[in-house]
Amino acid sequence: MYFPRKSGVKESFGRRDSLWYRLRMPFRAPSGTEDILPDRVPLWLRVEETVRRLFSSYGYRELRPPLLEYTSLFHKSTGEVTDIVEKEMYTFGEGKDALSLRPEVTPSIVRALVQKGLFGRQNLWKIFYLGPSFRRERPQKGRLRQFTQLGVEALGSSDPRIDAEVIRLYAHFLDELGVTRYEIRLNSIGCHDCRAGYREILRKEITPKIGEYCDHCRTRLDRNVFRILDCKGCREKTRELPLAIDHNCASCRDHFALVEKSLEGISYTVDPHIVRGLDYYTRTVFEFTSDLLGAQDALAGGGRYDSLVGNMGGPDVGAVGFAAGVERLMLVFDALEIGVEGERPDFYAVAVDDSVRGDVFRIANQLRSADLSGDLDFEGRSLRAQFRTANKTGARHVIVVGPDELGRGNVKLKNMSGGEEEEIPVGEVADRITRAGK
Ligand code: AMP
Repeated sequence: MYFPRKSGVKESFGRRDSLWYRLRMPFRAPSGTEDILPDRVPLWLRVEETVRRLFSSYGYRELRPPLLEYTSLFHKSTGEVTDIVEKEMYTFGEGKDALSLRPEVTPSIVRALVQKGLFGRQNLWKIFYLGPSFRRERPQKGRLRQFTQLGVEALGSSDPRIDAEVIRLYAHFLDELGVTRYEIRLNSIGCHDCRAGYREILRKEITPKIGEYCDHCRTRLDRNVFRILDCKGCREKTRELPLAIDHNCASCRDHFALVEKSLEGISYTVDPHIVRGLDYYTRTVFEFTSDLLGAQDALAGGGRYDSLVGNMGGPDVGAVGFAAGVERLMLVFDALEIGVEGERPDFYAVAVDDSVRGDVFRIANQLRSADLSGDLDFEGRSLRAQFRTANKTGARHVIVVGPDELGRGNVKLKNMSGGEEEEIPVGEVADRITRAGK
């Protein structure tokens, strides 16, 4: 068996792709999915806890829609002529019964509020969510097929200040987690009316030169000309095209001015090339990017979508939101060396010899019943090895159970921070550890 001595990321990828690995490892996670191993879970919990606490403090409440939706939902909302709907959905069945794993969460949130008639109860719904989304993309660093999105949607208001609020909220969230290296890019792509005019301007501009565009763009000229602006392959040409922000009506310009004013104190740049890949956006669009991420540099993206709720059978109300990828956040944490220490257990109970293993088990369970956390050895290991494990777990106390002390009704209690060791009655151990505190 050969394992390269250097254990950098490259080497381990090499091994995973090798014939040896494929033959020996018949069961692998599907490409583009990730296991979150126990060492990483504390960091995930920190993200989840911060989302729940901070987003609630801004008045957002969690909604948990299903992971499966009727495929038609995404056709209607995300848009027929988008990369996601055209080629990235995991779909089961056909026709009107077809179901898809959600590629994004916004359509489900709108569907749930409309379906349950919640707009009849109150006008403004401030929702957050956290959970997996699925897209059949080509996997690469920061681009997975199952990934986790957190996001907010404020539905029922056209106030520009709420566009600023959601941007401020994600900036606050990043700051709280210690992420300092990011940029906010902002643009305004206009309302339904501005977009109708801009669509014609784009068509007029592109039509005579369509031969210079890729095959994909050619099919999109008539179906959805805005998608051409997203094409990476044609970027040089699209950079020369007229900009949406220069064709906004007076009301969209006022809206954007107030968004900018409400972002006072937040550093951002106006980037007229931000278009976003989905159909439903209107007016404000934005992205959070980080240069620590490489090619897939978007940490979050969002914007206003003023027609979606109405189009999906709800009232004609404005809405704004964003979605952010948690795995990409993890990559930024790694680059900035942001970590979280796991919780230290209260105790580790060790057996001096085999004759007391049953007593160690009993004592450990008594302590757990007293709300203390801790573990013991189940592998018949030596006293030294048990101490090594105790150290590794970071236990605050080690309880040493030996036949002589037990004969006197006692055990030894060692405080791992102070180092002192004392013989005390078994019945007093829980109280001592509790009083010593965390
Ligand atoms: P989008 O709706 O495509 O703008 O996605 C919102 C956010 O989700 C992005 O800014 C990323 O952080 C994250 N994201 C989107 N697609 C993926 C993917 N395939 N893998 C990992 N994260 C993703």
